[in-house]
Amino acid sequence: MGKPYENNRLFSDSYVEARTKFRDAAQYVHPTAHDVLTLPGFSDPDGDPLTTDISWHGPQNARGVLILSSGLHGIEGYAGSAIQTAILSTSIPKDLPKDIALVTVHALNPYGFAYGRRVNEDNIDLNRNFIDWSKAPPPDHPLTAEINDLMLPEEKWKFPFLSIAGLYLKHKPKELQKALQQGQYSRPDGLFYGGNKATWTNRIWNNLLDRIEMSSDHIVHIDIHSGLGPYGKGEIIITAPTHSPMGQRAKSWWGNAVKSSADGASVSALVHGDIIESFNLAAQNKTVTQMTLEFGTYAKLDVLHALAMDNWVYVNGMTAGAAFEEARSRMKEAFAPHRDDWRQKVITQGTHAVNAALTGLQNSLQ
Ligand SMILES: [Zn+2]
Repeated sequence: MGKPYENNRLFSDSYVEARTKFRDAAQYVHPTAHDVLTLPGFSDPDGDPLTTDISWHGPQNARGVLILSSGLHGIEGYAGSAIQTAILSTSIPKDLPKDIALVTVHALNPYGFAYGRRVNEDNIDLNRNFIDWSKAPPPDHPLTAEINDLMLPEEKWKFPFLSIAGLYLKHKPKELQKALQQGQYSRPDGLFYGGNKATWTNRIWNNLLDRIEMSSDHIVHIDIHSGLGPYGKGEIIITAPTHSPMGQRAKSWWGNAVKSSADGASVSALVHGDIIESFNLAAQNKTVTQMTLEFGTYAKLDVLHALAMDNWVYVNGMTAGAAFEEARSRMKEAFAPHRDDWRQKVITQGTHAVNAALTGLQNSLQ
């Protein structure tokens, strides 16, 4: 039998289609387990349950585990789902080294994936939700309130281009990006809102980590995202400094594509509550190699326009109409460009990163 999907068929046009392709590819290589976790209270546009699917290949007590996850930022799941399906369509899952398991986690934010949003059903940016909730959330950046006010015009939607340009002139671009992107915990109607407690996704993720940590020595995590950086370029973002042991390991596995947000070298600012913090809180005495694989799409302001309009439509309770439809199509193109060259770049770099991770993981266990 050949591969179930060719490269140009790995991408989907909806969450339901992506999940079907993922499930077919996962079943095709006989997982040792496939868990379907249902998000309570919501259904997909076809009326079926919204789910996060976890497919496990290789031994359940493997010493080395590679986790490949998609769709923590809902709509960014198109790239991640395609890479996961590509990997499951190769010989990798069948030829895993004896002590290594591959765990693919599909659609960590199924609501956002199904409804074309980056955030979850409560407008929460899930990659800001992994703070330690036993403590008070971090304070907002001083510019956060002003930016969020600008992004919520009262009547008709209009991207506040001139006001944003004004802020750019007054503050350093990196500072503005940080103000917006690092996350905030005070405005549920704002952008990059981290929530007020651990979300469903946070909980299912930590359950998975608990299970993996029981037997493993080395956990590798690749979390796939899109929307930040040059078009079609995959950046490997780590939050550890490049000179740290984890940074050095990442460099030796993935080379110059590795950029540290701690060093200020990444397209991403250093953010609060991203998924790496779940390892910091839980994975004691384990080796963890964690990275975000981020694929650039369009210019920052185009992506911000899509995000801000999507949020405005949500805050105004719109579920139909011209503004709603425009927000939907802006989001789709900003985070999953419907272009063959972009898709090809994503698959090529994504599968390369996974292969390099497997080799690195295998070497580290010897
Ligand atoms: Zn993302």
